[in-house]
Amino acid sequence: MADHIVPTIALNNAVHIPQLGFGTFQIPPEDTKAAVTTALEAGYRHIDTAQMYGNEKQVGEAVRESGIPRSEFFVTSKLNNPFHAPADAVEAVSTSIDALDLGPLDLYLIHWPLPEVGDFVETWRALEGEHKAGKARAIGVSNFQQAHLERLLAETEVVPAVNQIEVHPYFQQSPLRAFNREHGIVTEAWAPLGQGAVLDDEVLAAVGSEVGRSVAQVTLRWHLQRGDVVFPKSSTPARAAENFALFDFALSDEQMSRVDALDADRRLGPNPDEFNRV
Ligand code: NAD
Repeated sequence: MADHIVPTIALNNAVHIPQLGFGTFQIPPEDTKAAVTTALEAGYRHIDTAQMYGNEKQVGEAVRESGIPRSEFFVTSKLNNPFHAPADAVEAVSTSIDALDLGPLDLYLIHWPLPEVGDFVETWRALEGEHKAGKARAIGVSNFQQAHLERLLAETEVVPAVNQIEVHPYFQQSPLRAFNREHGIVTEAWAPLGQGAVLDDEVLAAVGSEVGRSVAQVTLRWHLQRGDVVFPKSSTPARAAENFALFDFALSDEQMSRVDALDADRRLGPNPDEFNRV
């Protein structure tokens, strides 16, 4: 399967991001190279990793050894929580670049705002400097609430290219997604399958039987049609391929509405206003 079937979205700085990627959270380093290699064979060219995941080195090895030109890839990494102090953040960018060994990063994110740890505005200014120095083609944030974004918009220069937040049918984040959109910030939906929580849903199963697709495919297609970027994780080759086969069917408006109606304000991960663990 070819990468060109994945649509790209223009970020606010002319960089384009493939709308579908491969997530690597909780893939142990010893399994990462094989999982990413399988994903590349299935057609994925966008990989989401983070220093916190401990597998950047193995992501880089899989990409480098694939024989596919670097220019065809989009690789994201994220600032680990202990390194929010500006000098530490600058060093952390280089640490990620060295671990991946793929040249400049395509996208680099503040992983969590940690509102009671240091000052994320100062951290963001450090990343602005690294962006201007060419270390990352785009910079963005993750798990930022509206109030956190409002501070960046008021006090800094570069508007984040993306906000990577928890979004799935049971936690749809409509107000924050709308705020992102109004400010030209692309929403990336982490845990697009609710880390597996949505897979037994009867409504999703019913829609799946109407379109002849699995619950995972219906859910991922719903995200794509809403305009978000997704990178489901699976180290099972057949599932990684299943999650990539999203471009030869579509959900009707009525089917989209039935998934919209599943919203239950059910957050699975930490609340970013309260999460301050370093
Ligand atoms: P996910 O919603 O992608 O779900 C992954 C789970 O679903 C795994 O247990 C997997 O085995 C299962 N699964 C995947 N495809 C399946 C299929 N076709 N059929 C049946 N089961 C399937 O959850 P995630 O991995 O937490 O999120 C995706 C990515 O988002 C991560 O890998 C990571 O890159 C990113 N992420 C970011 C943050 C953040 O704070 N920024 C937090 C969590 C995840």
